[in-house]
Amino acid sequence: MPTDTLPPWLDARAIDNALSREKAPDSAELTDILDKSLALEPLSIQEAAALMRVCESEDLARLLAAADQVKQKVYGDRIVLSAPLHISNHCGSECVYCANRRGNTTVARKYMTPPEMREAGRKLIRQGHKRVILVSGQLPNADVEYLAEAVSVLYTVFDGLGEIRRINVSVGPLQPEEYAVLQSVDVGTVLIYQDTYHEQSYRAAHLSGPKSDYQARLKAADTALQSGVTDTGLGLLLGLGPWQYDLLAVMLHAAHLTRVYDAGSRTVSMHRLRPAPGSSFAAPYPVSDGEYLRCVAIMRLAVPYTGIVLTTKEPAGLWRDGCNAGCSQLLTGSVANPYESWTEAPGEKVPFPIGEDCHVDEVVRFLLEEARHLPSFCTACPRLGRSGSEFLSMVQECGMKSQCGPNSIASFMEFLLNYATPYTRQLGEKLIAEKLDGLPEQERGAAERLLQKVRSGRMDEFI
Ligand code: SF4
Repeated sequence: MPTDTLPPWLDARAIDNALSREKAPDSAELTDILDKSLALEPLSIQEAAALMRVCESEDLARLLAAADQVKQKVYGDRIVLSAPLHISNHCGSECVYCANRRGNTTVARKYMTPPEMREAGRKLIRQGHKRVILVSGQLPNADVEYLAEAVSVLYTVFDGLGEIRRINVSVGPLQPEEYAVLQSVDVGTVLIYQDTYHEQSYRAAHLSGPKSDYQARLKAADTALQSGVTDTGLGLLLGLGPWQYDLLAVMLHAAHLTRVYDAGSRTVSMHRLRPAPGSSFAAPYPVSDGEYLRCVAIMRLAVPYTGIVLTTKEPAGLWRDGCNAGCSQLLTGSVANPYESWTEAPGEKVPFPIGEDCHVDEVVRFLLEEARHLPSFCTACPRLGRSGSEFLSMVQECGMKSQCGPNSIASFMEFLLNYATPYTRQLGEKLIAEKLDGLPEQERGAAERLLQKVRSGRMDEFI
């Protein structure tokens, strides 16, 4: 039953009004909107709705190119790589599209044990990962202690050549004291995906259990930030609701967080609904590849300072195009199957749906083939305790380019020397040489000093 008590920032009428526009912007209006975004000003929902109506292929090409330019201005060439790690699939919710849903009898249930977490952590480290996102189901009493234990265990895994340096968590709404537990173990960004803001679609897909509480989900980022969490991330599961509505709603949500907490949303994750084991639910609002790319680009143009996160669950051609249209982070290299005992025997139940299971080396190679993206494993900000509004200020002053350029190059070289296959290393070293040539003198000097240290065997070097 739709409610009339939406939080004030989620103005459904304003979204509907913006979406009632049918006309494509003419060339002058399109130029004005793109120029505003290129000046790194967030767009209004009316401007974003206008971009949704662009239909001429030339205009669409301008839109995608501008999104790429905005990404370059704020983040430079970097694409940050993180691995999702599924640690539990027990869940008290019945979300019709999800393999973890309580009523799904086709998957085995599992809590990863601390030794298994260590083994999974080692596997991620051996691929070269430094950033992990913990994923689990949602129980009526969210297992915060379990999550906190997983974070502590993973931060202490060391595999000779490296460690995990940043752990973000994807969770449902928690109580203030539960967020404090996560903070006490040094969790990074707390990701709370609304999946769809379209109330009717949300209620149709989330039948029972904690996640069926649409309102609680909407309030969760506020509660987290009020409870001392410094970084939150928002997310969409495109296909659950009308994507046009969801894009405008997540913009309003991010604007609200910026206005009230000065921190905004650190990231917006943009995943498409995919078939899940044990679910015959089809996306009510399917999003084509072309629409998906447009979503990515509009989101980048609308919220210039926010990290846009895609996943290598998407076809390779598409996530690569996404990296040229505003994406700044990729989820990949999941060790969804961390146990030697797992098999792919027909009929055998597996605990976790296999997802972003590309090997990092392969993803890095794909990025390098474009000869422009710099895969980054940098964790300098968390190492320096830079988060929340401090991080946002740095991004707004375009510090991402001047400080993160050298740091990203150093983190990438650490990957190439310690984890990459010989061919990837060869491509990577060539790209680093080219990137160095293009850097201003001061940044180049800083990057070369860092590279010297990394080449001499030092790790975790940054400025
Ligand atoms: S709460 Fe999350 S894990 Fe559980 S069924 Fe819903 S989407 Fe899946």
